[in-house]
Amino acid sequence: MSISHLDLDLLPLSTWLKSGKRKLVIAGPCGAESEDQVLETAKGIARNDKVSLFRSGVWKPRTRPGAFEGMGEEALKWLNRVQKEIGLPVTVEVANAQHVELALKYGVDVLWIGARTTVNPFSVQEIADALLGVDIPVLVKNPVNADLPLWIGALERLNRAGIKKLGAIHRGFHTNIKTQFRNAPMWELAIELKASCPSLPVICDPSHISGRRDLILEVAQRAMDLDMDGLMIETHRDPATALSDAAQQLTPAMLDIVLEKLVVRETSIGDAGFEHMLNTLREVIDEIDQEIIQSFARRMQVVERIGEFKHDHGVTILQIERWLEILRTRTEAGESLGLDSEMVVELCQLLHKASIKKQTEVMSRDEDSDAGE
Ligand code: PEP
Ligand code: MN
Repeated sequence: MSISHLDLDLLPLSTWLKSGKRKLVIAGPCGAESEDQVLETAKGIARNDKVSLFRSGVWKPRTRPGAFEGMGEEALKWLNRVQKEIGLPVTVEVANAQHVELALKYGVDVLWIGARTTVNPFSVQEIADALLGVDIPVLVKNPVNADLPLWIGALERLNRAGIKKLGAIHRGFHTNIKTQFRNAPMWELAIELKASCPSLPVICDPSHISGRRDLILEVAQRAMDLDMDGLMIETHRDPATALSDAAQQLTPAMLDIVLEKLVVRETSIGDAGFEHMLNTLREVIDEIDQEIIQSFARRMQVVERIGEFKHDHGVTILQIERWLEILRTRTEAGESLGLDSEMVVELCQLLHKASIKKQTEVMSRDEDSDAGE
């Protein structure tokens, strides 16, 4: 896997809203349920000056029909009251051209594309086309499945339509492996997205990753430690009665506690002594990595000889006993050095995969040349 370069024409996050804060904190209910619920929740949230954008679904994508599907256009009028009376800009989810048209008609400040929409290039293109020539910030949630190119493709479609105030929302991925999370974070995908386009703001949605409110602080802290550009946290005046995502929403008071406990560290402190020490340590890391790469290259050369040897003697590539022995001895060696055995197993799997691939190449190469003799 190589980190691709994603070429997007972007305007920085600080230009999106009047209150250009370093971290964009978005809070609000999963869905707008009533005028009262929206206004009371927004009032509670607005007391916290770390929050600069109010979120609310007005069209809710539900798995089964008959569940709460949002209040539609009517709810956009309630959001206008949030803007005017409470002074918070607002963001809603759009999933088609008609949603875009209505959101623009009611002066919604920021749009977001939901995980179930990002998976569908037709829908994303329809939204991009509806936004042609419009200057509005758009946030694109990751697709439900762990497919980075699909996420990137959606961002590209919007950027090509002229959306320069563009960001991504990391809301975790569906997997069949049971974890404590509703959606597995797979942080490496958000990091890879950022690495392919460092100027792209990436906001974390700990609510949809967690699925339960007691995990939100932990996930939000992890996002801040990975230097993500903001958070989207579902907040409801009375989560127990929420018509969607009841288990993961916070009250405005709980949101205050989470934001208070959150430690937002600096990426650099501009202190010469600190920078010098960090650079020295990084030089050591660079050297160690060079040694690792060289050792890996030597290992691959030996692997190639083993492949030829096995081919010449008609022996299979995989010998399960040897593989089990490698796993056992390497984890034991790692453990004695204080390394996490799960990490050592992963490393062995990586090496073993490369070794099998190389030996397969050797076998087919040698077979081709045997056939030619
Ligand atoms: C939401 O934000 O309420 C929502 C539907 O999220 P997602 O698209 O991430 O599932
Ligand atoms: Mn939700």
